[in-house]
Amino acid sequence: MALTGIQILKMLPKKNCGECGIPTCLAFAMKVAAGQAEIEKCPYVSDEAKATIGEASAPPVRTIKIGSGESAFTTGGETCLFRHEKRFENPTGIAVLISTAMSAADQDGRLQRFNKLRYERVGVMMKADLIAIKDADGDQGKFTGLVKKVLAEAATASLILMSDKAENLAEGAKICGERKPLLYGATSDNAAAMAAMAKECGCPLGLRGANLDGAVELSEKLQAEGLKDLVIDTGARTMRAALEDNVVSRRAAIKTKFKPLGFPLIAFPCEMTDDVMMEAMIASVLIAKYSGIVVLSDLQGDILFPLLLEQLNIFTDPQRPMVVQEDVYSINGPTENSPVLITCNFSLTCFIVSGEIEGSKIPSWLLIKDTEGLSVLTAWAAGKFGADMIAQFIKKSGILDKVKHRELIIPGYLASIKGELEEELSDWTITIGPREAGHLPAFLKEWKPAA
Ligand code: SF4
Repeated sequence: MALTGIQILKMLPKKNCGECGIPTCLAFAMKVAAGQAEIEKCPYVSDEAKATIGEASAPPVRTIKIGSGESAFTTGGETCLFRHEKRFENPTGIAVLISTAMSAADQDGRLQRFNKLRYERVGVMMKADLIAIKDADGDQGKFTGLVKKVLAEAATASLILMSDKAENLAEGAKICGERKPLLYGATSDNAAAMAAMAKECGCPLGLRGANLDGAVELSEKLQAEGLKDLVIDTGARTMRAALEDNVVSRRAAIKTKFKPLGFPLIAFPCEMTDDVMMEAMIASVLIAKYSGIVVLSDLQGDILFPLLLEQLNIFTDPQRPMVVQEDVYSINGPTENSPVLITCNFSLTCFIVSGEIEGSKIPSWLLIKDTEGLSVLTAWAAGKFGADMIAQFIKKSGILDKVKHRELIIPGYLASIKGELEEELSDWTITIGPREAGHLPAFLKEWKPAA
């Protein structure tokens, strides 16, 4: 059962030293209880207390990491059934299947599309995360050859190795080294060998049940063997069965803390239909309802993009506005004579404003000021986009070294701070830009630096 902040506080050393990044032990305990801080951040807590608190504060769906370093993929860690209750933690990973049964040209095409299909939207890079490498006929040489090829050609991919043979997965994992893959293929027939192999390799293990009950049984068996990091395939190969299994699994994990199902789910729309549109539809249903990973037969822009957009929408924290990093952004190759504009860091505003500037083809500098994700007027009303703060930002942003002129274009909605801003930035000319981003292209075409 989850521990309260006070129960956690009793197990802390109470030095109030702030080394965990939070000034007091009480505040730290409250954050750990709320799932907003990790107990490991306190260097003085005993191992025993760490284990007790870690176990009690662990999310009901275990967090599993595939790979390592910056391109590691994280799945699970979920704590609720519906996004509005809190938030969904880790976006469903989209994987593409590459099999040893495919021709070299097919394999190359999938790898190229995996590397190429990426989309930047509201400051977020959207892309497929994983490649599932399937050992189609048990030929170890072919399988390891394909693993090597994928490792060499898809440097950012997290990997799923799929085989019925534990020894083939072990060889594949050895080749992957630090890029620790998910090893998929444990069934009731090979559970003991797969468990021993996954423990030896230190990788998470994917299990495939004959059905949901079979998956529960297998999960219990593998946990009894000492495995902690599992990913579950309930064996469902129709949309209806997969959806039902996903909902039952998530409810059991969240509502009753049913441990055998407290793991991320993997689904295979690629094995549910031969129709690519139907496959995309199945994937979209399973992204919405609880799959941690969906494996597609191929990646095509017209199918991948809407799935990524759905993923972005569902896994965006509704309580936290999306933000773009505070910085100076160059658009269309600006020079020292190009216009300088400023706006807030609310993602949608940044996306629209930068899109209009880009569309105008006028080389420009766009300053994005951190307003904690608030839009222009809201940020101004909240005291986060006032003249003094803008002036401070202009001075430290580095824009002074990038342009010869001293003219700043502010959003039309900030017209009322023009005078104040001129006082704060006495050597700058302040120009009021349009209120609507759609009017920026015409405005910029007319713009010339003040004499
Ligand atoms: Fe307390 Fe530990 Fe944080 Fe120090 S590091 S304030 S002892 S919780």
